[in-house]
Amino acid sequence: MFQRRSKLATAGVAKSVEQEQEANVLVIYTGGTIGMLRNQSGVYEPKSNYMIPELKKFPMFHDKSQSETNGSNLLVTPLMRNGKRVVYRIKEYSPLLDSSNMSMDDWSKIANDISLYYDKYDGFVVLHGTDTMAYTASALSFMCENLGKPIVVTGSQIPIYEVRSDGRDNFLSALVVASQYKIPEVLVVFGNKVLRGNRTIKNDSGSFDAFISPNIASIADLGTDITVNSFLVLQRDTTQQFYVHRDICKNVGLLRLFPGISEQLVRSFLQPPMQGVVLQSYGAGNAPDNCPGILRAIKEAIKREVIIVNITQCTRGFVDASYATGKALYDQGVIPGGDMTADAAFTKLSYVLSKASLSNKTKTEMMKQNLRGECTTR
Ligand code: ASP
Repeated sequence: MFQRRSKLATAGVAKSVEQEQEANVLVIYTGGTIGMLRNQSGVYEPKSNYMIPELKKFPMFHDKSQSETNGSNLLVTPLMRNGKRVVYRIKEYSPLLDSSNMSMDDWSKIANDISLYYDKYDGFVVLHGTDTMAYTASALSFMCENLGKPIVVTGSQIPIYEVRSDGRDNFLSALVVASQYKIPEVLVVFGNKVLRGNRTIKNDSGSFDAFISPNIASIADLGTDITVNSFLVLQRDTTQQFYVHRDICKNVGLLRLFPGISEQLVRSFLQPPMQGVVLQSYGAGNAPDNCPGILRAIKEAIKREVIIVNITQCTRGFVDASYATGKALYDQGVIPGGDMTADAAFTKLSYVLSKASLSNKTKTEMMKQNLRGECTTR
């Protein structure tokens, strides 16, 4: 029934797929507000086996004239203004989760499914709750090694079934980006922006423009035209095979400094089994240097091979050693985390620490490197 897609003649990065009339996308539906309904108590919760039949009722999500897909999870968009359509299959997880209930194992499950179906699809969309979306997008960016296709994470603030919902636009935009743009990255599509996943933070609990990437520009902007900032798009390494690194180290944590934080609290936070900590310090990376007990606790943990990465509590900006209070941390062996978001630093640590064959020195070096565009190298 569908035209068979022609083989791609070009492998140009961030290039619209001119040669194809249709492209295939796998949608991994994990949960989130986008597919929620109000329960008897009036609060939102995910509803299983509901989205696919509902989407088939929306003409923009499914062109019935193209295919009789009753009871199946295959949908086809109508032709878009560029004369292309997206054929997509929805893989619904059970149970569907509010993303606040997701764990690191869920990152592995998503990554694993992407690797299982990697060769069959042109791109992937992950439907996800917004609350921990930036963590999942960051984690996937590290777990997917030598990625050559777009993985687009999206969701919404209002369920897709409601009259006034951002979910329909976000989902359709995600399908377009995943199918028609050769961006070999994990992306977040939300509120008419395409952001690098591991640069993204949830910045607003109510706005349709909930996500920002404070330290780099958007990868693309979705207006009447889709404008890709090609100079930002990561280059794919075509000499290496794609694979998923499934393991993730769970003994990591985020420690946010606050005025008056005690040595005892820092010391107990750094106790085994902790293997890696993201320290969220003040401003350009400053921590109290008038509390020798805190610095001693940090030094002792680093001696036990705990990796400690310093990032700023500010939404935007870099850590550097321009103040004595920042330098004191680096003198103990803390790694400056540059302009990484907390979500990226945390997931990068859990990825790097899970590489069992690497020495502590190599892992420490990896934390300083820009692995997936997650930090700016100066
Ligand atoms: N609590 C929801 C979630 O993260 C919020 C949302 O999707 O917007 O799953």
